[in-house]
Amino acid sequence: MGQKVEVLAPAGNLPSLRAAVDHGADAVYFGFRNATNARNFEGLNFSLNDAKAGIAYAHSHGVRANVVLNTFPQADDPSLWFQTVDETAALGADAIIIANLSLLDYCHAKHPQLPIHLSVQASASNAPAINFYQRHFDIARVILPRVLTVAEIRALKERTTVDLEVFAFGGLCVMAEGRCYLSSFATGVSPNIEGVCSPARAVRFENTGERLRTRLGDILIADYGAHEEAAYPTICKGRFQANDQVYHVMEEPGSLNILEMLPEVIESGVVSLKIEGRQRTKSYVATVTRVLRQAVDSYYADPPGFRPKGKWLKELNAISEGTTHTLGTYEERWQ
Ligand code: SF4
Repeated sequence: MGQKVEVLAPAGNLPSLRAAVDHGADAVYFGFRNATNARNFEGLNFSLNDAKAGIAYAHSHGVRANVVLNTFPQADDPSLWFQTVDETAALGADAIIIANLSLLDYCHAKHPQLPIHLSVQASASNAPAINFYQRHFDIARVILPRVLTVAEIRALKERTTVDLEVFAFGGLCVMAEGRCYLSSFATGVSPNIEGVCSPARAVRFENTGERLRTRLGDILIADYGAHEEAAYPTICKGRFQANDQVYHVMEEPGSLNILEMLPEVIESGVVSLKIEGRQRTKSYVATVTRVLRQAVDSYYADPPGFRPKGKWLKELNAISEGTTHTLGTYEERWQ
């Protein structure tokens, strides 16, 4: 058996980073408090000093720290993105996560010692694309878009020497990664440029006593009854009227959770299992990291005997979107 797969945890702030480290992460990832970060939510993320402290805390516990720079430089002034590459290199991060070609080119030329992980936002889901990025920018790892089956990941592994990272748990985007403008349609900002889908300032929860309505900008996203669990409003998971029926027209709320396919995913040859959720709480980070750590260790202790424990699924469902989970495209037959 090769190298043990990595548990990679999200951090939206220093307390979450410490929680990830303390609950068994092998590596953490975080971004800065600005538009270079596709989780640029108000009140979250890292200043330069936070980043220094976070990397020091991670390294003192033998944990790797990756910095995310995964939005696209704006045409009128791209300087913030290039400056952030330089700052990340100076911090001593273990890797930088980049999507944009100009930033890949800049980082590779100016900071060749800094390993580059190709962001999921680059949407590289086939071997020629991944190998192109390796040839030109020497990427060490690719974070695979959530559009592949396990069989496809296994086939990809045969055709590239770039390390593969996949999502193991968390929220799902239904759009081709890095190409969603739904939020921009409703609020004027999107994850691609400003790093936010459904920014909190555009979100409203209207409680009438009997109904709870969620809105994004002026758009009604869902209308819940008294005993229904309300999800954070994103357009792709809204309940809309179509053909005289009201339902989740594009996607049901639900979190990706690969525990039921953990052996297949590990055996496909990936090096890293990523937890989504830099916008989530410290307790979310602690819970998911702890459960995934236990599950991965349990797999390596007895690969053929691995079974996901009911208590793991229960704990993860409790913090999943819509309190339910899906295996996403890992087992889906449609593309
Ligand atoms: S609207 Fe949905 S698909 Fe688009 S970025 Fe937001 S979560 Fe992803």
